[in-house]
Amino acid sequence: MRIPVEVSARHVHLSRKDLEKLFGKDYKLRKLKDLTLPGEFSAKEGIKIKTKRGELSLRVVGPERKETQVELSITDAFCLGIDPVVRVSGSIESTPGAFLIGPNGKIRINNGVIVAQRHIHCNKKEAEKLKLKNNQTVSVEIPGKRGLVFKQVKVRIKDNYILVMHLDADEGNSAGVDKKTFGYLI
Ligand SMILES: [Zn+2]
Repeated sequence: MRIPVEVSARHVHLSRKDLEKLFGKDYKLRKLKDLTLPGEFSAKEGIKIKTKRGELSLRVVGPERKETQVELSITDAFCLGIDPVVRVSGSIESTPGAFLIGPNGKIRINNGVIVAQRHIHCNKKEAEKLKLKNNQTVSVEIPGKRGLVFKQVKVRIKDNYILVMHLDADEGNSAGVDKKTFGYLI
């Protein structure tokens, strides 16, 4: 069974509170396009992340989350002088912080900047077919001219998920991933 592979560019998930500080009271994100995960969308809005060393623009991904979380590649982290910390999405305790700058204001987050651990989303049915368990780590081979085997791929199972493997930009580029790339469990 082949697994579609998608590359996540750097982005930010915002809490309602932080969204309002950056964009204004009662601000509503505008959808640019739906993402593979049901309900998730990339928004038209962008913000900047700033450190002493530099700044980068970040796409906002909606809907709002309980906690603000920035997802960078390791290259992005080096550009900003941030110590890259690889984490599963949602696990932001003791991670680096930064300044975030929106059109309506600037905030300092004390943590929440992560490099997302590479992962596979799938629902229970797909997990059964692939013999996968939630939170398991697996290895996935990407074929092709720049083919690679990715180890430490975290499996995340939820009823509303659709089978997809998520890599960050560094990982995707290193394996020559494009829109038609599939991975294979090994
Ligand atoms: Zn994902």
